[in-house]
Amino acid sequence: MDSPVQALPQRLAIGMVPPTLQLQPEPHQQTTTPKVHGIQASLLIPGRGSPIKNAILIIHEKTITWVGPTASLPPKYVSIPTIHVPILLPGLWDVHTHYFGVVSSTAGYDSLLGPAALAGARTVRDLKNTLFAGFTSVRELGGYAGEISPAVEDGSIVGPHIYSAIAPISMTAGHGDIHNLPIGTVLDACAHGLPFAVCDGVPDCIRTVRLMIRRGAKCIKVCATGGVFSLLDSPQDTQFSPEELKAMVDEAARAKRVVAAHCHGKEGILAAINAGVKTFEHGSYMDEECIKLMLEKDIIYCPTASVVEGGARNADDMPPINRKKILETAVHARHAYRLAIKNGVKIALGTDQASSTPGNYNSHGANGKEIFYAVKAGMTPLQAIEACTAISPETLGPHMAPKSGQLKEGYDADMIALSENPLENIDLLSEPDNITHVWKDGMLSKSP
Ligand SMILES: [Zn+2]
Repeated sequence: MDSPVQALPQRLAIGMVPPTLQLQPEPHQQTTTPKVHGIQASLLIPGRGSPIKNAILIIHEKTITWVGPTASLPPKYVSIPTIHVPILLPGLWDVHTHYFGVVSSTAGYDSLLGPAALAGARTVRDLKNTLFAGFTSVRELGGYAGEISPAVEDGSIVGPHIYSAIAPISMTAGHGDIHNLPIGTVLDACAHGLPFAVCDGVPDCIRTVRLMIRRGAKCIKVCATGGVFSLLDSPQDTQFSPEELKAMVDEAARAKRVVAAHCHGKEGILAAINAGVKTFEHGSYMDEECIKLMLEKDIIYCPTASVVEGGARNADDMPPINRKKILETAVHARHAYRLAIKNGVKIALGTDQASSTPGNYNSHGANGKEIFYAVKAGMTPLQAIEACTAISPETLGPHMAPKSGQLKEGYDADMIALSENPLENIDLLSEPDNITHVWKDGMLSKSP
């Protein structure tokens, strides 16, 4: 068997990256990274807290076991294999993605009705692009990645850790319904693998949450208002009754899941908050009243600036109805984002990335631009990095959140390296080529 393992150098010299490790790890290659190894960095940005100069991080299998200044390294670690990188950060998180396998950023929802296997095949490249952009974890709020994730976990394909809601749950005529198709067609597609879900009334809502959990959901996504890319509703429409929303939050909680709510309009935001959701997405018409409640209830806001800014910039490519909605919503969304930062709302970064066509604002792999937008909206570079790392796992709630997003003892060994300092130029994180190294579960997935 001519496997890459046989070509692996016998010894790992300090400061050298074995060339074999530049390959994507296959399951049989997982022995190529030493059990205990170190990464030395001129600057280590821990995700939360102050950066450390001349630092070293020690990994034992999948876990970070020591972090600190190189000068304080415990003697037992001094002779382990170590590589040096200029800048080391925690692996990034995108807490709002969709892997739909659709090759356009502006196609209507009906374009999702192709074969699931085709969407899954396209998702293979999208997952790799996400990981190679430095995003070692994603929360997927509807899409195929949730059901594909076992293939990532067993090493069949390359991708980030996936925490999926499986489908956005919508009421009939709601944001996640496909308004230009007969309802029977939509319900049939949902029942046969389309990552969408339409339900009405408390019993049906409860059953739908259970169906999502049955399909592997690690969190639940509900559509509490209309949206921009749906056809017949307005982003300001409130969707689902308070009783339906509360029933879904309670049912999710029984299975230790939290709920993410898609909402734009203020009334829907308040309804979602009162129902007990953990995060809300977009939040375009959020105001001081919403913010006060969010702070009280420790609710996380995910502003999705990439889709707001990218969508507004590319509005001419959209059907007139969606163009009008994106241009109106973007004005409010920008204001809401600034207001949230000013008032100290807890923010986690998510992009709403959904396109399998490379090279557009909505493509998987373009996730890093969200950090640039966070700084543009008023965060410091360190705050923006924290919103994309240390805060992110909290969006999954206390029971589902992994120990991730920080370079800290006991945390998952997911890291990225750059050759230049993103604190001096945050836009470096927007370009996947600037991410020189990616480690996931302690293993090197990408290197120069
Ligand atoms: Zn979304």
